[in-house]
Formats: sequence, structure tokens, C-alpha cells
Amino acid sequence: MANGLTKGASEDVIRCDACPVLCYIKPGRTGSCDRYGNHEGRLVRLDPHVVLDRAVERGESVVPFLERSGDWDGTLVSHGETFVTAIGAGTTYPDYKPAPFIISSHVEGVDMVTVVTEGIFSYCGVKVKIDTDRHLGAECSTVRAQGEAVGHVTTSEYGSQMLSLGGVRHLTGGSRHEGTATCETLLDLCNGKAVELKIDDGAKVVVEAGKPPVVDGAQEERMRVGCGSATIGMFAKQWFGKVDEVVVVDDHITGVLSEHQAGKLLGVRETGIKLKGRRSTPGRYFQVAGPGTSWGGTDIDDPLKILGKFNGKQAWPGLRLLMVSTTGEQYAYFELDDDLRPQEKELPADLRESVARIEENCEPALCSVLFMGGAGGSLRAGVTENPVKLTHSVRDALTRVTCGGSPVYVWPGGGITFMADVTRMPRNAFGYVPTPALVAPIEFTLKLADYAALGGYVENVRPLSSITRDQFVHNEEGPRRLTARSDNPWPLASQQNAPKRGKKQ
Ligand code: SF4
Repeated sequence: MANGLTKGASEDVIRCDACPVLCYIKPGRTGSCDRYGNHEGRLVRLDPHVVLDRAVERGESVVPFLERSGDWDGTLVSHGETFVTAIGAGTTYPDYKPAPFIISSHVEGVDMVTVVTEGIFSYCGVKVKIDTDRHLGAECSTVRAQGEAVGHVTTSEYGSQMLSLGGVRHLTGGSRHEGTATCETLLDLCNGKAVELKIDDGAKVVVEAGKPPVVDGAQEERMRVGCGSATIGMFAKQWFGKVDEVVVVDDHITGVLSEHQAGKLLGVRETGIKLKGRRSTPGRYFQVAGPGTSWGGTDIDDPLKILGKFNGKQAWPGLRLLMVSTTGEQYAYFELDDDLRPQEKELPADLRESVARIEENCEPALCSVLFMGGAGGSLRAGVTENPVKLTHSVRDALTRVTCGGSPVYVWPGGGITFMADVTRMPRNAFGYVPTPALVAPIEFTLKLADYAALGGYVENVRPLSSITRDQFVHNEEGPRRLTARSDNPWPLASQQNAPKRGKKQ
């Protein structure tokens, strides 16, 4: 924990040593990051320290992290039902010092230890998944916040656009303002706030974890039911007999019922339809239009633009054609006139149901924000004098890593590189320091015997019950006791069935 060395012209000024900035803080003032302040000559961590409790009212956790600090007398018991998170715990700097809290507990007959620290991450970022078919920007396009480059568009996934934001290059490798804007963007996203992002030659999108994206001012409602080909496969039977041809318009794979295997097996007659774009396999077309924010993530408002002339040998006057997008949001119904040209008509009642079914099968569009950081050599040094042993312990599933008490996915390979869903963490779990870097909670939980074996700071281990209210938090607000989410694995649960590295912990 930060020591707060007294130094300077005034005896009352305190130097915060919790990060490389080493602020001098006058009485009654805070340091540059607002995390620490000078309270009556004492260096104090200003945000309340968060502990999780699962002993009481487990059924209430439908509402995430119900706050119950008001009815708590400050008593802490070490029966494994209370978990000390790193949120508000403070930071050590330099990292060879032991972590701020190394807490023992007795769980199911086993002595456990949880090492708790707020890590300072210069190497970190967020991966953002935006459920939308709409084209937000070309891959590798720069993503900006406050006009500064804070990340880029990365490979889109099924029904979603992906952004990679932050990282050491944006935090430290550009101008001071780029680093600050990047840090603010990451902090807001991780703390569940809405952030407006602008993609070069692309869309403006408002991202908020767990909320629908807003693309160019329009809130996205649904994510696609599937690609155009999959949609044909799913609904072919429902269209059979009610319409002669269906085209599901999609920026990636546009489907055509009469040519698709699903149509062939049902005996759908050839219609002489001609699609623009590149034919991949029967009934599946790539690049029928440019990417955009209209029909199926293309740039077309008029679906007929993707059709060529119908072949007169197979088409016939009166042929019924349905064109629909992958979300069912856009649709149009046509019948061929005597010259085999499509004429738009009102959608027949018996086709309305199938369009509604596409919409019904689309899940709500949301933004997902995963924090990604690495517990590097320095952070691990606060856990053990031999940092690589912590890595091995995580790899061997002896040590469980959590982020604010929430599960993480630890990547295979070197180091302890992890991802955590910020919506599973208590709100405002993240902070920053102006180096710039993000401050994120991280906890390591393992058996006490294993902790000793990996060279841990055993002499600094203390029981939960030894922590008084005053030691626990240094502000008048007191500790914040939250009910653990029932859909998160309990961090102190038996490690017996813990997954090996590379799985969610
Ligand atoms: S920026 Fe914050 S953590 Fe760093 S020295 Fe200043 S007050 Fe302490």
C-alpha cells in the first residue's frame, strides 16, 4: 500500500508513492488522479474498498451487486462467504513491495489466501463487440475519441462489428493528448459509461457496455438472425408455396431460395433470377453491393439494384418475389409484369408472418466491452518474490485470477494476459493515473500452502477478521459491501474443478 512519505516545504505536505507520478499533496487536497488524498496529514485512498458477500440474500442478486453498506456494522468474518476485492484496495509502487492486502480465509477446511491489488496497466485495452450488421468502417480504420486515435476496427464477427481500443501504442506512443483521450475512453467504457466514437471514413457510434449501440444517431434494435444463406436455410419451408422466389440481402452472403440447397430439396422451381456480385456456391452470393448502413449492412436502399434482368426462358409474368434483410427490418414484395420487370406490391398477409419470424429470431443488439490486460512481471512481484512462479501457478490452475471478484479468461501462452467482461464487475471498478494508465482491480486466490511454495509474502498474510473498519478503508464513507452476483463463480469456491489455463476462471 502507498506509504505517503512526508516531504517538501511544508511538513503537512504528503508525497503519494502509489504510482510513478509521486504527487505531493497538500492537506485537504487530492493527488492528480483523485484516488488518493491528504486527510489530516494521512495519505488515504478516497474510494470505498469493495467487499463481496454471498452469505445473505443470494436470491436478490438479479440486480447486480445490490449495495447493502447501510446495514453493515463493519464486522468481517473469515468463513469464505466474504471476498475482499481489489476495488479501492490501493496500489503498491514500486512493485517489489507486497500487495496492499494479502488476506487469509478458511474455506471448506482449506486455508486460502487472496492477494489483492489495484494494478496500474499501461499495457491494456478493451475489445468492443457491437451487435449490428451495419458497416461501421473498413477493417484497420482508425477509431477516434475526442478527435484522437484511440484504436482501430478489427475483424468483424458473426453479426457483430469489432473494435480494438487502447493498448500501449495509443497510451504512450503518440501525443500527450492521444494518450489522455485513450485513457479516458478506456476508463469510461470499463466503468459502464457511454462513449462516442468516430471511425475514419465510417460511422459515428455511441458505445455503452450492455446497451444497444447507436449508429449515426439511430439506435440499433436487433442483431441479424444469420447470414443471408443461413436465413434461407432456416425459413425456406415457411416460404414454400407462398412465394416463388426469396432473396435475403446481406453484405456478406446473400441467399437466393430457388438456387439454394434448401430450395432445391423442397422442389422450388427455377425462376431465372440474376444476382449481381460473385456467386460462391448455389444460392450464395458475395459482394452484391458495397458495405453500408442500409439493407443487410449494404449501401443499398433499393433492393432491386442487386438484381439483373430475369431470364425469359425460366421467369414468368406474375412471379412472386420477396426481398428481405437479415434482420427482417427491411423487406419488399414484387410481382413480375408482362415484361418480366418486378413491380412492387403490398406484402401478402401470409408472408407477413415469415418476415415477423425473422425479426422475432433476432436477439437484441448490445455492446459488449471486455477489458484486456496483462499481469506483467512488476505486478506479479507484489504477489511473490519470484514472479514467474505465479504464472506457473495460474497455468496449473492452482491460482484463480479474478477482476473485481468477477471471472476472467486467461489467454494461453506466456504471461498472465486476461480478459474480463466489465458488465460482470461492480460499476466504477476502474480508475486511472495520469502517466497515463488504467487502474484495474486484480485478485489472485490460492491455497495458503501453494502461496508459500511459490515464494509468497507469507509474513504479510493476515486474517480477514484482523482488519478493522479503520484499517480497511480510510474515508468516512466506510467499506462498500455488495452482494455477489449469483451468475459469477464464487472466487473462493473450491479450486478442485477449476479449469486449466486458457479457460474462463
Ligand atoms: S497520480 Fe494518484 S496514485 Fe499517482 S502519485 Fe498521484 S495521487 Fe498517487
